[in-house]
Amino acid sequence: MSKLAFQRCINPGCGAEFDCSETLVECPKCGELLDIVYDWDKINVPDKMSDFAKRWGTKDNRLDFSGVWRFRELLDFCPDETKVSIGEGQTILQLNDGLAKDLGVSAGRLHLQYEGMNPSGSFKDNGMTAAFSHATMVGATASACASTGNTSASMALYAHSCGLKCTVFIGSGRIAFGKLSQSMDYGGHTIQIMGDFDDCMKQVQDVCKQLDIYLVNSLNPFRLEGQKTIMFRIIEQLGWEVPDWIIVPGGNLGNSSAFGKAFMELKQLGLIGKIPRLAVINADGARTLSDLYNDKKLRWNGGNVDQGTIDAYYAELTAKNFSPHTCASAIEISRPVNLKKCLRALDVCNGVVLAVTDEEIVNAKAQIGLHGLGCEPASAATIAGLKHLLADGTIGKDERIACVLTGHQLKDPDVTVNYHKDSQGPFSNPPVECANDLDEIIKLMK
Ligand SMILES: *Cc1c(COP(=O)(O)O)cnc(C)c1O
Ligand SMILES: [Zn+2]
Repeated sequence: MSKLAFQRCINPGCGAEFDCSETLVECPKCGELLDIVYDWDKINVPDKMSDFAKRWGTKDNRLDFSGVWRFRELLDFCPDETKVSIGEGQTILQLNDGLAKDLGVSAGRLHLQYEGMNPSGSFKDNGMTAAFSHATMVGATASACASTGNTSASMALYAHSCGLKCTVFIGSGRIAFGKLSQSMDYGGHTIQIMGDFDDCMKQVQDVCKQLDIYLVNSLNPFRLEGQKTIMFRIIEQLGWEVPDWIIVPGGNLGNSSAFGKAFMELKQLGLIGKIPRLAVINADGARTLSDLYNDKKLRWNGGNVDQGTIDAYYAELTAKNFSPHTCASAIEISRPVNLKKCLRALDVCNGVVLAVTDEEIVNAKAQIGLHGLGCEPASAATIAGLKHLLADGTIGKDERIACVLTGHQLKDPDVTVNYHKDSQGPFSNPPVECANDLDEIIKLMK
């Protein structure tokens, strides 16, 4: 194919290729996931990562302003005219020595990549800007997603910015109100299904197929291209250096997959010297990746992933009538659609996986808050995981670490308020009741 970019099946036994003008969420030949692959020789990729810094000087150009499209040569699958942007990716990498000290990490080493600063308050905007740019390119008129909350908020925002209709499928009672309020406010058509996220995911795929609707879940390979830029921005903010570790929560495993692909491509292009290690953190109540990777030793294996192991595991979940449960609703997923791509990322990045309890998550969340950056529960799984990785020596205290705080603190105020109000943990900070009396108030000020 002579195009700059095309779609290719990740199954090495298949490898079927498709034009980017096609809208696919699986390989029509074998059903596997698809990748976006570039013909780098035809793309004018900068010689070094720091060349992208020139775009800071021309940020009156909307694409240079975007924290995603500033790196557009590294996701060159659509023309500039169809690129959709609402200013996503203005995020910060915060050096947090206070939190580092609490955890026993050396000063100057622990960084928090705060994706809550995106227009809809989560990292999902990085992917949505890319998916809707592709949707615009192919002339889609309606979009849909299954969501634990943030995907729907982000989809509704981006759908309206480019005039597409959108429908959200959510599970009953499984969504944080901050997130649901967003998609309703942005005018998303919301359908609440009596089931969990995995049920919604299955239904939305069938609905999209039957009604020819554009699916923006992370099965959509274009979405993951946008999410690669989270890694580019970390490198940018480290003065174009690569950290030793990236830590990310794992739900549907789109983010971890995108990060692995980003580093794979940067290395191939000679834009980075080394690939960081990747830690993917599950919640204990939704620990499919951890079980498969650590207990069943499932590996990428050059693309020949052992499907039998996956099928047997899922059959067990079905037999137990298992439904995932964690307070970190964004990662309450037991059948992650990007499992195989994530295994590839773990292979590329010499990765590790672990699961943390809800108690560890809410404590870590409060600690992150104490040190000046809030986040939602799923994001705090990173710091909860880091504690284990430091304790068992996997991560050394002098290593340079970047934790991806995936969503804004105000996404899920219920978890936060309950933690503090009911004094559930060591960092609880409950409000103190007081009579409407000056002397009584002054007593409490000491
Ligand atoms: C979607 C989401 C996740 C999970 O990311 P995956 O790519 O599905 O693994 C984690 N945290 C937040 C805040 C999210 O919105
Ligand atoms: Zn295939």
